[in-house]
Amino acid sequence: MTASKPVHAPVLFPVVDQCLMIGGLPLPRLTARVGQTPFYAYDRQLLTQRVKDLRAALPSGIELHYAMKANPMPAVVQHMANLVDGLDVASGRELRIALDTGMNPGNISFAGPGKGEGELSQAIAAGIVINLESETELEHVANLGSVLGIKPKVAVRVNPDFELKSSGMRMGGGPKQFGIDAERVPTTLKRIGELELDFEGFHIFSGSQNLKSESIVEAHNLTFELALRLAEHAPSPLKALNIGGGFGIPYFPGEGRLDLSPIADNLAVKLPDIKAQLSGTAIVIELGRHLVGEAGIYVCKIIDKKISRGHTYLVTDGGLHHHLSASGNFGQVIRKNYPVTIGNRVGSPHTELVSIVGPLCTPLDLLGDKMELPAAEIGDLVVVFQSGAYGYTASPTRFLSHAEPVEVLI
Ligand SMILES: *Cc1c(COP(=O)(O)O)cnc(C)c1O
Repeated sequence: MTASKPVHAPVLFPVVDQCLMIGGLPLPRLTARVGQTPFYAYDRQLLTQRVKDLRAALPSGIELHYAMKANPMPAVVQHMANLVDGLDVASGRELRIALDTGMNPGNISFAGPGKGEGELSQAIAAGIVINLESETELEHVANLGSVLGIKPKVAVRVNPDFELKSSGMRMGGGPKQFGIDAERVPTTLKRIGELELDFEGFHIFSGSQNLKSESIVEAHNLTFELALRLAEHAPSPLKALNIGGGFGIPYFPGEGRLDLSPIADNLAVKLPDIKAQLSGTAIVIELGRHLVGEAGIYVCKIIDKKISRGHTYLVTDGGLHHHLSASGNFGQVIRKNYPVTIGNRVGSPHTELVSIVGPLCTPLDLLGDKMELPAAEIGDLVVVFQSGAYGYTASPTRFLSHAEPVEVLI
């Protein structure tokens, strides 16, 4: 038995006799159980553990929501619904999946620009919270509420007026298609009062995939300041203040895990004051990838192994069409390799330099470029880690008309 950490990012799956173990099953057996490659597998025990760890780290009184677009597989959402305090959806279809879990509709919120009339009617009828993305949307929601004879629940998504100096990426302060500009929010709140809608609170989301705790702390502090300022204009007390999320996971060489303790310490200091000024307001953190990303793997099979002018290619039955993020084409500026291994030869001392490609007729179809991996044969299983979020549903599965991958929760 080896317990080696074979890949460049911290990986949570154990290894027994060179085989990766998922949900207690060695990878070849899991593959037989699934019945085909390629597939995504999500480990329910890791999902449970992640939420448990977060709850242990964060001060009590912080509510956790799962942002479903990271992974909307119904079984995953059902599992998460039993662990978290609420679900955040981004479409009418996600809303149906969220409602199927039995989650209290009052703890489901719907964000995203350009919500359709059908989606808004669904949301109003379901009694979930609509995070307003524009003043037009507010009028639209009020009209639909009158038609349905139901009082809509609305929160205002705020496009913050601050910029984060300590962060590499700009997370606010400029024009955005998301949310209502902070300076327009007092007018919006007045209008919500006039329309007699059910006012829920604010949603202030300032970024994603952040691994620097100091920049999350800064975002939280600026978010609290902004929320307190805007709350003075609210038509009724805030029921909830959603301070966003943005907690990242390590993907690439040199990236470590997000240190939660400075974030938790800061929240513990700030919360009594916030709770004093906003009594009865739930403080919510919404997370997608941090909850599910590390619990998932993508598995494909080596179909061919060829050497071209001295370089070895492992040609697999999976690729960009199933896992766009791992190919580097989902928002990466410079392509970097996701952590990858040969899942039935983990820790093998015999390694070789290879590139892992898929069956698509484009050089973009690359799952691993020039990686030192256990020497592999046709029929071996390639595993891409950190694949539990923005994998399957973030990929152009119809490109080249290959079969779709299967998803399992184990
Ligand atoms: C996408 C999204 C999230 C989730 O982002 P992660 O990086 O997966 O945590 C949370 N909130 C909103 C509003 C989003 O659009």
